[in-house]
Amino acid sequence: MIVTCEKCDTQYNVDENKIKGTEARARCVKCDHRFVIKKPQSVKQSAEPEEAVRPVRFNAEARQNDYGAGSDCKVISICNQKGGVAKTTTCLNLGASLMMMGKRVLLIDFDIQANLSLLMGYKDAKSFFDVIHSDGGDLNQYLKQTKHGLWLLPSNSKMALLSKKYLPDENFEYMLRDKLQSIKHQFDYILIDTPPSGDFYTLNALLASNTAVIPSQSEYLSMNGANHIESMINVIREKAGHDIDYYVLLTMYDQTNTACQVILKKLNEQMNGRIFETVIDRDNKIQESHIVNEPVLFYDQDSRAGQQYQHLAEEIITMQQTVEQAKSA
Ligand code: ADP
Ligand code: MG
Repeated sequence: MIVTCEKCDTQYNVDENKIKGTEARARCVKCDHRFVIKKPQSVKQSAEPEEAVRPVRFNAEARQNDYGAGSDCKVISICNQKGGVAKTTTCLNLGASLMMMGKRVLLIDFDIQANLSLLMGYKDAKSFFDVIHSDGGDLNQYLKQTKHGLWLLPSNSKMALLSKKYLPDENFEYMLRDKLQSIKHQFDYILIDTPPSGDFYTLNALLASNTAVIPSQSEYLSMNGANHIESMINVIREKAGHDIDYYVLLTMYDQTNTACQVILKKLNEQMNGRIFETVIDRDNKIQESHIVNEPVLFYDQDSRAGQQYQHLAEEIITMQQTVEQAKSA
C-alpha cells in the first residue's frame, strides 16, 4: 500500500502484511515527521454480495410516528457550480466507502443529467419528479437497492420540469428536505449528487443537508466554483438560519504537479482550513470503474483513489463524532 507523509507528502510503498494489528507507527526519512499508518480493511472479504447487501427494514408504523425528528441520519450534499470536478464520482465512492464501514447509505441523484443513476446501472428509472407527482408521494416506493447494497433514488430527464413547475411556489426550496423527513430514520447517511449550478436543485439539496462536500479539481477555475458555493452557503446560513457545515475536497490531484500543490495551499488559506485532509489523486481506475458500473473499491480494492475515498469516509465519521462529543460535553 502507498503511504504519504502527512507533512512533506513523500510517498512510501509499505508492505501492509508487515503491519501487526490495525495500525503502525512510522517515521518519514525525509522530514523526520512521525505519524500513524492504518492498515486498510480487507475490502474483498466484506465485499462479497451476501455481506454487502444490507437490506434496510422499512417500518411503516415508525415512519408515521417519527417524522424524522431526532433521527441520527446525516444528509450530505455534493456540490460545485463547475462541472467535471468529480461530484458524481465522489457521491458514488464516498457512499460505497461509508457502506463498507457498515453504514446504511442512500444516494439521491438530483442532477437532470442522471450520471449517477447511469453509473449505477439505472437508465430512465423513476425520479424525485415522479415521487412528487405520484398519489401519496411515498418515497420508499421509488428507492432502488443496487447489487452492492447501496440505495438509490434515481434521476431522469423529467427532473428538468421540476424547477419550471415549482420555482414560483412559496417554499419551493424546501421540497426535498420535507420529502426526506419520512425516510431519514432508515439511513445513517443520505448523499445528494447535484448539478453544476447554483439554482433550484442545489438550493433544495443544501437546505436538506447538514453538510456540503465541495469537490474541487486541482485547477484554478474549480477553485472559483468552490467560492461560489461557499457564498451561497453563507447566504443560506444567514438568511434561512440553516446551520450547514461545509468542506472542500481536492480531487484529481497530481502529487508531481507543482500547480496542484500551490492550489492546495491557496484553497487551504481561502477556505480557512475548511478542507478535508484527504485528497483524491487522479487515478485511471476511476474511469475504468465507471465503464463497468462499479464503485472503484469494488472494481479494484487496492486502487489509490479507492483507498482515499475510504479515508474520506473515516474522516467524515470522525468529524461527526467530534462534533457530537462537543455538543454533549
Ligand atoms: P461532475 O459530477 O462534477 O461533473 P464526474 O464525477 O462526472 O464530475 O467526473 C468528471 C470526469 O472526471 C469523469 O470522466 C470521471 O471519470 C473523471 N474523474 C473523476 N475523478 C477522477 C479521479 N480521481 N481520477 C481520474 N479521473 C477522475
Ligand atoms: Mg455529475
